[in-house]
Amino acid sequence: MANQGLKLSKYSVGTGDRFAHQAKAQLQACVQALAAGIEVVPVWNKSNREHTIIGSEPISVRQAADAAVKALDWKLPYFCDADHITLQTVGRFLDACDFYTLDVADFIGQPAAAADIEHFVTRHPELIGHIQLEGVDDAFEITAENLRQTAQKYLTAVKKAGEVYRTILAAKGEGNFIPEVSMDETDSAQSPVELLLILAAIADEGIPVQTIAPKFSGRFNKGVDYIGDVAQFAREFDLDVAAIAYAVKHFGLPENLKLSVHSGSDKFSIYSAIHATMKKFDAGVHLKTAGTTWLEELIGLAEAGGDGLALAKEIYAQAFAHCEELCAPYATVIDIDPAKLPSPDAVRGWTSEQYTSALRHVQANPAYNSSLRQLLHVGFKVATKMERRYLDLLEANEAVIAKNVTENLFNRHIAPVFLGRKA
Ligand SMILES: [Zn+2]
Repeated sequence: MANQGLKLSKYSVGTGDRFAHQAKAQLQACVQALAAGIEVVPVWNKSNREHTIIGSEPISVRQAADAAVKALDWKLPYFCDADHITLQTVGRFLDACDFYTLDVADFIGQPAAAADIEHFVTRHPELIGHIQLEGVDDAFEITAENLRQTAQKYLTAVKKAGEVYRTILAAKGEGNFIPEVSMDETDSAQSPVELLLILAAIADEGIPVQTIAPKFSGRFNKGVDYIGDVAQFAREFDLDVAAIAYAVKHFGLPENLKLSVHSGSDKFSIYSAIHATMKKFDAGVHLKTAGTTWLEELIGLAEAGGDGLALAKEIYAQAFAHCEELCAPYATVIDIDPAKLPSPDAVRGWTSEQYTSALRHVQANPAYNSSLRQLLHVGFKVATKMERRYLDLLEANEAVIAKNVTENLFNRHIAPVFLGRKA
């Protein structure tokens, strides 16, 4: 797969900016990383679902990114990611984006044609038997039946990714965009062996994939910490990275291919494991932290006091009143304990400090409330409905919000993952 063109740097961070007001504050976190000695390039991502709920167009992401880059005189690459797009939704992203997350999760498990499965098995005799990966003690023992089962489960999805890839290719030309394949928004995790075989199928399909987002084992709820066996995650992450190195060497995939950790927002307890693997294998990572910048806006508003705090309380009250409908689309990725949600009346009496302590993701703070945080995480629709009123307060309180956005992204995400610092 020659002529790679645009190339994603070794370390990159995906950030979401629902209301398109924080690009500069987010980029500032990458500037801080640079000052700390590491190049982490920003990728601004926004999915079709988000654009639809907010009522925005992909070009607004590009404009906000361009303006931030200009304002901070950022000289390194940066990208705009059409996050989780499909054949149905890719169209509106073709002009504005140069990074495409091809989401094929819906096609996982859709049976592939028998002939395609057999073709895959006969095409890859080299994968049958003992596969020793570099840098890990375990080896993969792969049978023809493993190949058949993986093809049965994933080949249709990979072929779909190929269709979406070729649609973008026809519009933008080779080397003018970065393709990512995502399989994270599905029920069951992919094992490292499956990842290796999926990469073989992706290479067969001719997709020069630069990042791949598998579903890892454990629970990745929105905006809160990882729930699962960290040691097992660490073992699997090692194997995934080793499988990628193998795939680059043997399947001709781009040499900068790396893992993309989605649902990456606030999975603090696995960050040190991710960093350890990156060091051990000298591997790159794309860390998607989407979704929590909006919470930093709320924290900044609350911290500002006055009208800002009043609005933050009102947003909580409305989110509380519409809890069920706000949570329904995210049922599989949130765990809210209704008994832990304070009443809107109680919140109305809170100080800035009480509000920010409950919401800010500092687990050591006894006042931190993960149920409240998750509810507000999915509650951005409430702010969307407020339109100018919300945006005017964002603008009036820009400094205090920006400080929170930058600190959160740098101290709690970039520094632990890329610099190995404790949060
Ligand atoms: Zn994802």
